[in-house]
Amino acid sequence: MAFKTDIEIAREANKKPIQDIGAKLGISSDHLLPYGHDKAKVSQDFINSVQDRKNGKLILVTAINPTPAGEGKTTTTVGLGDGLNAIGKNACICIREASLGPNFGMKGGAAGGGYAQVVPMEDMNLHFTGDFHAITSAHNLLSAMIDNHIYWGNELEIDERRVSWRRVLDMNDRALRDTVVSLGGVANGFPRQTGFDITVASEVMAILCLATDLEDLQRRLGDMIVAYRRDKSPIYCRDIKADGAMTVLLKDAMQPNLVQTLENNPAFVHGGPFANIAHGCNSVIATTTALKLADYVVTEAGFGADLGAEKFMNIKCRKAGLAPDCVVIVATVRAMKMNGGVAKADLGTENVDAVRKGCPNLGRHIANVKGFGVPVVVAVNHFVTDTDAEVAAVQAYVKEQGSEAIVCKHWADGSAGVTELATRVAELADSGVSNFAPLYPDEMPLLQKIETIAKRIYHADEVLADKGIRDQLKAWEEAGYGNLPICMAKTQYSFSTDPNLRGAPTGHSVPVREVRLSAGAGFIVVICGQIMTMPGLPRVPAAENIRLSADGQIEGLF
Ligand code: ADP
Ligand code: MG
Repeated sequence: MAFKTDIEIAREANKKPIQDIGAKLGISSDHLLPYGHDKAKVSQDFINSVQDRKNGKLILVTAINPTPAGEGKTTTTVGLGDGLNAIGKNACICIREASLGPNFGMKGGAAGGGYAQVVPMEDMNLHFTGDFHAITSAHNLLSAMIDNHIYWGNELEIDERRVSWRRVLDMNDRALRDTVVSLGGVANGFPRQTGFDITVASEVMAILCLATDLEDLQRRLGDMIVAYRRDKSPIYCRDIKADGAMTVLLKDAMQPNLVQTLENNPAFVHGGPFANIAHGCNSVIATTTALKLADYVVTEAGFGADLGAEKFMNIKCRKAGLAPDCVVIVATVRAMKMNGGVAKADLGTENVDAVRKGCPNLGRHIANVKGFGVPVVVAVNHFVTDTDAEVAAVQAYVKEQGSEAIVCKHWADGSAGVTELATRVAELADSGVSNFAPLYPDEMPLLQKIETIAKRIYHADEVLADKGIRDQLKAWEEAGYGNLPICMAKTQYSFSTDPNLRGAPTGHSVPVREVRLSAGAGFIVVICGQIMTMPGLPRVPAAENIRLSADGQIEGLF
């Protein structure tokens, strides 16, 4: 049986005017700033006017460690949102915006899949409402002003070898990872080595996603460290006097974008920070606004629960004063099989033993999330190749862990395939059993915070950090940054720092290669292993197959 592609399904959507979707959330049309007929930003005035309302329930969708088999977090987030609406609840979805780079690289969009998608998916996966353009521009304005400051005499005494602020572009382009700028003679400045990151890796992106309003945005932008002097004292964005103009460029991008699902339910799609060197979830302003407008808000965190949910809890919830009422962990039979040692090419054959063997990865995520005091339910995102015996093996395992796993068929059937999960999630969220607490207190020393995450979440024995790293952490504590949360950057494929170590490893060490201070975003990035902030394209990029049809339709975009 041939299945329609995501874009074919999206194209057949019966979209409603965005004003109708706004009306579902009680947003009148004069508070919607439409971008075409099917997208709108929500005005800051309206957001300000609903602040004293009570919050709805917050539901986080996370997953096991990702495998090349695909898990479907976004698909499940969208499906569950539709499922809650289908059982008569007033629910809204919050997800991230897509980056152009990966769109043209590997197949896989950011709008969900099958019959659980947000639309217009083409727009959302391409230029959308221009937020990433604004972030790129704001970031590069600061880059230009730093080099310009050096050119005109360098009054701040910036050490040209210690400019940490790079440039960004929303493209996978490995050629730009390391560059030399200001070549060409006296008129072009002082040559120095630098490079480009992808826009989603910009600290400006992380800040846009954590800021509560424009004032907070400007303050955080000003706090960013952009370079150091010879005596290693920091130079801030504020010293370059770029924070005001950057805020102007970001003014519209700060307003959340409203779109709809295939079933015409409201979805905020706003912001999209990396899930390794940043916290990997949509903007605080979208989530807090949705909570004022809907009884249930379903949102997603990037990568597996060891990275995504951990940061959602310890960074986003801590900073924004949020507390999840229920967590859904997405698992698939295919991914359990891969964790159980099956190669990708063999996933189509039934293998109950391998499913059982892979389940401890899921088991550890369940226990970890419960450790935050939040009730958990497992969603088995059903693939047509899954057999009943394999699904039953996952369910039996989860039951042994004292939780329950519910089979979901939203990808194939939309909301009709996910009503059981929706009913259970609503029950758990309403039960009030959630007793959320972050993993560590603000005042815990930085190294101890890293150790807490490594031991409690990764089940590692130890953190390996040499003297240079320990001294750096101490220096930041003395400079007043000791209260910041930790943003771990490690492979998403394993609990450990070795991407090939699947399942639920123990007895491993977590070597810290580098630590970085994101003073504006407000976290300390701890880099364990090789982390790519400018991805490259694969041998055959998806872009080769993307084109316009004779009647102007986009083809090949998933
Ligand atoms: P994640 O958010 O975990 O990265 P997505 O929800 O974006 O994953 O899904 C990744 C891809 O897998 C999408 O192209 C989607 O269409 C596909 N997918 C998700 N669930 C299923 C399913 N049950 N059957 C087949 N394909 C699926
Ligand atoms: Mg996703």
